[in-house]
Amino acid sequence: MPHTTFDPHDHSACIQQALQAAQAHCAEHKLQFTKIRRRVLEILLAQHHAMGAYDILEQLAAEGQNAQPPVAYRALDFLVSNGFAHKIQQLNAYIACTHPGAEHTPAFLICRTCKGVAETCLATGNHPPAGMFGGAARDMGFRIETAVIEASGLCPACQQQDIPCA
Ligand SMILES: [Zn+2]
Ligand SMILES: [Zn+2]
Ligand SMILES: [Zn+2]
Repeated sequence: MPHTTFDPHDHSACIQQALQAAQAHCAEHKLQFTKIRRRVLEILLAQHHAMGAYDILEQLAAEGQNAQPPVAYRALDFLVSNGFAHKIQQLNAYIACTHPGAEHTPAFLICRTCKGVAETCLATGNHPPAGMFGGAARDMGFRIETAVIEASGLCPACQQQDIPCA
């Protein structure tokens, strides 16, 4: 569905879809979708907001899941390296991927007030968008392998409010 993250939508469908995609990917590639990996992904999926590793640890602790930090960090690494989640460098935080299973170069629109993050796709496949860097890179004989594209600003809801939408 071509809704954007910032539109009101049935978010339970996003969660279902992402969990199913992760499950299928793990089955196909013989990866262990362990309880902790699944739970960390569910926590990230709860909202289209970036979460710091510390927030995730807190949430796990609140649920009585006695996950040691290294366990939670490894679960995050697993989710990121398999494309189920992305790291938002600017916020030093994580976000669940909204196109799991598809190879893509994500670009992020980050609301500086509510920390809502929308993932958009400027290019399919693992090729960074030619428009932004491609020409310059070609001129310098540089081969781009990864590009981080993060834009910050205000989401539609925050533009209408003076108070931060926490
Ligand atoms: Zn959603
Ligand atoms: Zn993604
Ligand atoms: Zn916002």
